[in-house]
Amino acid sequence: MIPVTKAYLPNKEKYQLYVERIFESGWLTNNGSLLQELERRLAEYLGVKNIILVANGSFALQVAYKALELDGEVITTPFSFAATTSTLAWEGLTPVFADIDPNSFNIDPTQIERWITAKTCAIVPVHVFGNPCDVEKIQSIADKHNLKVIYDAAHAFGSEYKGQSVLNFGDISTLSFHATKLFHTIEGGAVITNDDELAKKIRLMINFGITGPTTVESLGTNAKMNEFQAAMGLCVLDEIETIRRQREEIWQAYKKSLNHLVQIQQWNEYGENNAAYAPVLFSNEEQLLIIEAKLKESGIVPRRYFYPSLDTLSYLNGEQFCKQSRDIASRVLCLPIYPNLDFKSIEKILSIIKSDEKK
Ligand SMILES: *Cc1c(COP(=O)(O)O)cnc(C)c1O
Repeated sequence: MIPVTKAYLPNKEKYQLYVERIFESGWLTNNGSLLQELERRLAEYLGVKNIILVANGSFALQVAYKALELDGEVITTPFSFAATTSTLAWEGLTPVFADIDPNSFNIDPTQIERWITAKTCAIVPVHVFGNPCDVEKIQSIADKHNLKVIYDAAHAFGSEYKGQSVLNFGDISTLSFHATKLFHTIEGGAVITNDDELAKKIRLMINFGITGPTTVESLGTNAKMNEFQAAMGLCVLDEIETIRRQREEIWQAYKKSLNHLVQIQQWNEYGENNAAYAPVLFSNEEQLLIIEAKLKESGIVPRRYFYPSLDTLSYLNGEQFCKQSRDIASRVLCLPIYPNLDFKSIEKILSIIKSDEKK
């Protein structure tokens, strides 16, 4: 079976050495030395000022909303993973969808202002498949209406905009380090901000708001990353350049071969594709379903990312209809992409798609 993605497993002996260190120290979690080492190395690798590691990417978003004291309506994108919307609803916020740009698959900045009301407190865009949003336009809308901007940057590990990490834009950006992501810590995530005070507040929040053995300074939760997760992160980070190069090669192979048969997401002109995903757009849903079935017959399992469009979720009022997002969601398929995917498999995938598209 060829799945859409496979968790990257680093050198086992290296991981075991870290585990031995954990056993020797007896320090399993709570800001351990491996976590601190990973934070330092990630800040340097990504080129960001403050990075706070947390238990998962959903917690990263929830902590971000809480730290910015959001209340009311939040304008977000309907074309994303379910967590972008569910974390908002979970925190008692009301997601309001602005439709997407059908070329970039990102929130369309020209659609944001029409949804701003007196209750709007923030914008939560997603750098979809790692593609940088129009961060400057979004910031100018936020400034004009005094709104916070939190980027769900779960896919944007290593993604750059005008020569710097795209994570440096907005009030906060969050990453997911789930096993299936480009960089992972089994489960994990991070909160990134340029604001030192905010970073301090977040560090307190993820550990119950506790400042000492007998002092609870503020409201907090438990969103900490443990040492075993950090150890996995340190091992994967050692191999990140190889991982990225191999993904890049696979993406280029797909792109070169399918360019005239399918539509490809239009990347931000100020950034480069980080090959976190391999999405292709078919001309209609019927064709997508035919190809998906044929791939599955051959043991290849692509995924309909993102489907369904989040404006259709049953737990929301269901009053919004985002035409572009629903259309793209019905036609997009993410092809297998992971470091050890061999070229024979890629050829097989390509030949199945090509044989059908020719008819
Ligand atoms: C993976 C993902 C998340 C959630 O991250 P977890 O670490 O799985 O909690 C949030 N947003 C997007 C866009 C994602 O792809």
